[in-house]
Amino acid sequence: MSEKVVIIGSGPAGHAAAIYAGRAKLEPLMYEGMFAAGVAAGGQLTTTTEVENYPGHLSISGPELMEKMREQSMHCGARIKTETVDRVDLSRRPFKVFVGEDVIEANVIIIATGATAKRMNLPGEERLWQKGISACAVCDGGLPIFRNKTLVVVGGGDSAVEEANYLTKYASKVIMLVRRDVLRASKVMQDRAKNNPKIEILFNTVPVEVVGEKVLSGVVVQSTTPDAKRSTIEAGGLFYAIGHLPNTSFLQGQLELDDVGYIKTKPGTTYTSVEGVFAAGDVQDKVYRQAITSAGTGCMAALEAERFLSEHH
Ligand code: FAD
Ligand code: NDP
Repeated sequence: MSEKVVIIGSGPAGHAAAIYAGRAKLEPLMYEGMFAAGVAAGGQLTTTTEVENYPGHLSISGPELMEKMREQSMHCGARIKTETVDRVDLSRRPFKVFVGEDVIEANVIIIATGATAKRMNLPGEERLWQKGISACAVCDGGLPIFRNKTLVVVGGGDSAVEEANYLTKYASKVIMLVRRDVLRASKVMQDRAKNNPKIEILFNTVPVEVVGEKVLSGVVVQSTTPDAKRSTIEAGGLFYAIGHLPNTSFLQGQLELDDVGYIKTKPGTTYTSVEGVFAAGDVQDKVYRQAITSAGTGCMAALEAERFLSEHH
């Protein structure tokens, strides 16, 4: 017998979808992943400490918030399997979902597999990760350890400029490290960085090591020009903004993706290029990338799945 709804992924998007689909009596089956894409079940928030911008919680630890979402999904009728989906066959309905030796049929699939922020794995990074090093300024920038310090942002794209601008609210100074002699960011964003007196842009520069005892205290940087000159910037924070990798490789090209690999959705909806397959959360969003926006699109996916199932028995 086919499952009505299979949800792949277990971040805020997957759980919001599971809560709505469960309450709609669709008995959703969620594959929460077994360290899929290097992230624990529960998604990216399991890798952070305090979340202070999820409505309803003044402050809550990321893992605790995700545990509560999981509990709520099950309370609403979702079944959860701690396994990773290897691949899917979307060529006809019911779709096929391949998990190890098992093949599950699904009338609807909601993909909520998230994205992974790229990191540089510099010497010292593992030890100081989340102790002054982050890949999300909007999430972590307001934390006390970053106040009135020099903060370093790596990257020259729109995200890097957005993060650098955001951090100037808290930092005494923000230094952007750009590996080439130009920013990749759009013109309007470039102007925003260049016109902000608190932002200094170091072109042709990359970080090569992070230093600090218990928390980050400095970043060793190196010039990308032939002289390869090294120096150390005293800094209280290092923020990566060098892009994200959406977790879509298991789709093997069966859905339309953009040039980076994000699932393309019809604007204002969670419809993908295949009828009956919906996408929610960071896997289809390279702009907002927040827990609340992911949960919002997870809700949309479940409502759209419900409508789809009522029209296609
Ligand atoms: P994710 O949270 O990425 O979860 C996707 C899940 O799907 C993962 O568990 C993954 O393992 C699983 N998965 C992937 N592939 C498969 C597969 N093939 N089969 C089964 N499972 C699979 N946002 C905020 O709003 N506030 C914050 O304070 C905040 N802090 C953050 C701190 C950090 C360090 C990071 C990295 C992000 C932070 N964010 C924050 C962003 C937020 O975590 C994301 O926007 C949100 O988690 C995206 O949710 P999602 O449901 O799309 O996917
Ligand atoms: P991008 O891929 O656009 O930019 C990544 C940046 O990081 C580039 O400057 C790149 O350098 C640099 N980089 C990559 N790897 C390394 C590395 N190993 N070491 C040093 N630097 C590195 O990613 P974004 O996340 O900025 O943007 C993704 C998409 O989202 C874009 O389409 C962007 O326009 C969009 N976006 C739009 C926003 C807005 O409009 N407000 C906000 C945020 C994102 P190089 O240029 O040399 O490759």
